Amino acid sequence: MKIHVMGSDQRIVRCARVSFDKDQQVDQERDKKLIKYLLEHKHASPFEHIIIAFEGDKKLWLEMLSNLPSPAVQVYYSAGFIWTNLRNYINAKELLPEELETVLREKLPATWAIIEGLEPKAYSLDQEYVKEKHETSSGWIGLVDALELGTDMDYYTFVVECPLFVARQWHRHRFGSYNEVSRRYVSYEPDFYLPAYLRRQAKSNKQASVEEPVEEPWNSLFLKKIRWYIEDLQQLYRAMVEKEVAKELARGVLPQFMKTRFYWTVPRVSLDNFITLRTHEGAQKEIREFAQAILKMVGYRGSDKKLRL
Ligand SMILES: Cc1cc2nc3c(=O)[nH]c(=O)nc-3n(C[C@H](O)[C@H](O)[C@H](O)COP(=O)(O)OP(=O)(O)OC[C@H]3O[C@@H](n4cnc5c(N)ncnc54)[C@H](O)[C@@H]3O)c2cc1C
Repeated sequence: MKIHVMGSDQRIVRCARVSFDKDQQVDQERDKKLIKYLLEHKHASPFEHIIIAFEGDKKLWLEMLSNLPSPAVQVYYSAGFIWTNLRNYINAKELLPEELETVLREKLPATWAIIEGLEPKAYSLDQEYVKEKHETSSGWIGLVDALELGTDMDYYTFVVECPLFVARQWHRHRFGSYNEVSRRYVSYEPDFYLPAYLRRQAKSNKQASVEEPVEEPWNSLFLKKIRWYIEDLQQLYRAMVEKEVAKELARGVLPQFMKTRFYWTVPRVSLDNFITLRTHEGAQKEIREFAQAILKMVGYRGSDKKLRL
């Protein structure tokens, strides 16, 4: 049976540590403790970024579905492969083929030992932080990993830095997994996006803009004011944190131009849907640039076209 696993022990840690803005740090002893903590405290979402695919037919898949312990466990079938992630695997291990254990033990030695209640020794690392990176006018996106078997459930992991309002649009794409920096934890000086000029409201579409600046002196004046307010709010934020205002409240004054960072693990069918919707001229320019960067990195296969709605 062909078995594929995307990810590593470090991938779980990266997706967990992005909350603290420490996803690039590696300290194997602390990392192992963190994996144990995540498992014991049901901080489960970082485990969703480990993708498992194995050869199997529809009959096997349907048998699994009919025995799932909860409707929250997700197992998919596409083109001769059954797809799931490590969180689902942990929740429905008994239903999945035993052969998976050998591959998971090898690919995720620390995590596997912890699941089995043993002291972890080995630890698997990511080869690199990102395989390919693209800048956009408001941030950047990096391809972390891909598992491509030519099916609609092929999986991709990206790391994205973008303004809050772009992240809000992005996270409406529910089919996939996310882990993001938490400003309940971090108090580092945030970065802000400032557009090169302030685009005009479109007349034809209530949501959209046109590639044309608002007239002067307003464009320069508003940009100057935005800069001034951002600086002022940053100072207020700093002062509040210094006086021990909880970060979870102090962050309330940080404007939407602030940048955030998140990991996104997404199946091809959802990625194609994202590309269709977000490269469309009706989508906001800033997210459109990200969708175009994704298109350059991994292409478009049209798998979303099989859906009516
Ligand atoms: C130009 C534009 C403007 C928008 N404006 C707004 C707005 O004003 N307000 C707003 O709230 N949102 C807005 N959205 C977001 C939009 O409504 C979708 O939430 C977003 O595009 C994600 O699309 P999706 O649901 O297809 O993707 P996903 O959530 O990733 O879902 C992928 C696919 O899975 C299936 N699916 C997922 N969940 C369900 C479910 N619960 N039931 C049935 N099928 C499901 C569907 O087939 C779906 O296409 C806008 C999006 C665009 C592109």
